[in-house]
Amino acid sequence: MRVLMIAPPGAGKGTQSALIAAHFGIPHIATGELLRDHVARRTDLGLAVQEYLDRGELVPDQVVLDMVREALVAAKAAGGGYVLDGIPRNMRQARAAYLVGRELGMTADVALHLDADDAEVTRRLLARAALEHRSDDTAEVIAQRLALYHEVTSPIICWYRDRGILVSVDAMRPAQQVGREILTALEAMRPLLDQGPGQARHPGDLATLGEAFGASG
Ligand code: ADP
Repeated sequence: MRVLMIAPPGAGKGTQSALIAAHFGIPHIATGELLRDHVARRTDLGLAVQEYLDRGELVPDQVVLDMVREALVAAKAAGGGYVLDGIPRNMRQARAAYLVGRELGMTADVALHLDADDAEVTRRLLARAALEHRSDDTAEVIAQRLALYHEVTSPIICWYRDRGILVSVDAMRPAQQVGREILTALEAMRPLLDQGPGQARHPGDLATLGEAFGASG
């Protein structure tokens, strides 16, 4: 199972990605976590990206793309499945991730969109801020991250819809309920995806699934 997550900050991307990864026994590749880990370890990369994270801006595309390529190569060796959480965040990253996936023979089966409105995600992020102290969970930086999401990330949803791999779920509900719906949808798709190695999947195979699982039209 190969899944890309697309969601505004605070929609539950990290939580649901971890659930999917555990359920299918596949690696969870979270760009934000990888970047925060570099910052915490004060690596050269961490020092270079810290300001972007603190301001709620996107780090340069090439930085994340290099990290993701490395993680995908490792995922391939581990069986070929993955949950990508945090990329793509703009059209350029979407195209680049697709090209890397194609080169490695592991393009995404599903683009999973978690749909939640700004008021709800802001409320959740401020609640998390009280517990976790992430440097970018302040009201001002949250507003900046949301603005970026609407401006450059949400437009790529259409691209996945056109490719026939979009599944959209209502993420306004409690995490457990959202998780159940996601696993049910992904399990229903599994028989279509598990075709042996070498049997190239016809690109049209998934064309109707977005609709079947409630992708908004
Ligand atoms: P959230 O979705 O809640 O903003 P993430 O942990 O996914 O949290 O990302 C945190 C920060 O890491 C982003 O605000 C951005 O600065 C950086 N980041 C993560 N993924 C990317 C990416 N694909 N491209 C550019 N910057 C990224």
